[in-house]
Amino acid sequence: MSDERTALVTGASSGIGVAIAVELGRLGWRVGLGARRVDRLEETAAAVSDAGGTAFASPLDVTDAGSVAACFAAVDAELGPVDALVNNAGIATPGWLHRAAPDAIKREVETNLLGPILTSQILIAALRERGDRGDIVFITSDATRHARPRMATYTATKAGLEALAHSVALECEGTGIRSTVVRVGPTLSEFGFDWPMDELEDLMTYWPRFGLQRHGGVLEPEAIARAVAMVLTAPPGVRFDTVEVQPEAPVDDDRTAQIIERPPARTGE
Ligand code: NDP
Repeated sequence: MSDERTALVTGASSGIGVAIAVELGRLGWRVGLGARRVDRLEETAAAVSDAGGTAFASPLDVTDAGSVAACFAAVDAELGPVDALVNNAGIATPGWLHRAAPDAIKREVETNLLGPILTSQILIAALRERGDRGDIVFITSDATRHARPRMATYTATKAGLEALAHSVALECEGTGIRSTVVRVGPTLSEFGFDWPMDELEDLMTYWPRFGLQRHGGVLEPEAIARAVAMVLTAPPGVRFDTVEVQPEAPVDDDRTAQIIERPPARTGE
């Protein structure tokens, strides 16, 4: 693999996807940007160029196999063959499972799980055909490690994504194609922007009962981007399996102080 590679980042129109694209731009890479909001992708493209990379924005709906194939074809034509894929696009709809609308459940499963399956199979097929090395990064959630009530479908999709990543890693052993999970803790982005405020406030008092959201620490998207860059720039012979990034508990924070004195009981462990 040359030092200047061609990546495709899904969900590059906001939050963590933007930060990853810009970080890869900083490495001087060619970066394909995929998401549904193309106007926002153009803003990311400008930021990638400013950082020193070359960017190309392509409309992408990861739930649609035709859109995924078209996006890969467009990025290949514009930037050259993709050799690094970051499966970052994801959504969550909070709420009790028994009250969730079937359409919302389907959208979440298709975006978070079907999408990365579709993108990954295209890249793996292309890399195998060319005999090239390459990387696939799957952005998952710490919900896979600490089950998250009232986000059951989301948790299930991210757990499934980790199973996919590990299976792909084994399928690709000996090919030079690496598969890695980057597991993400609470991060400032547009994630949750569309959640009803009363639901959000309720969850902030509900989740700590299960040992979740114990403190108010939150990551900047750039922290995730740096972890992804570390994975992608690992030398041949090294494969990161799972990298989990968590915010440090704020020092001198009231909630942290309470935890230090009296740790909350964690259920189910
Ligand atoms: P944002 O909401 O800021 O970004 C989500 C991105 O996904 C957007 O660019 C959106 O683009 C894209 N997207 C959604 N649906 C589709 C689709 N059908 N096709 C293509 N792109 C799509 O959230 P984050 O940046 O925080 O999320 C990035 C990833 O990080 C997600 O996988 C999320 O699950 C994960 N994560 C985030 C955490 C956090 O605390 N923020 C914690 C743990 C994991 P558009 O709408 O333009 O299509």
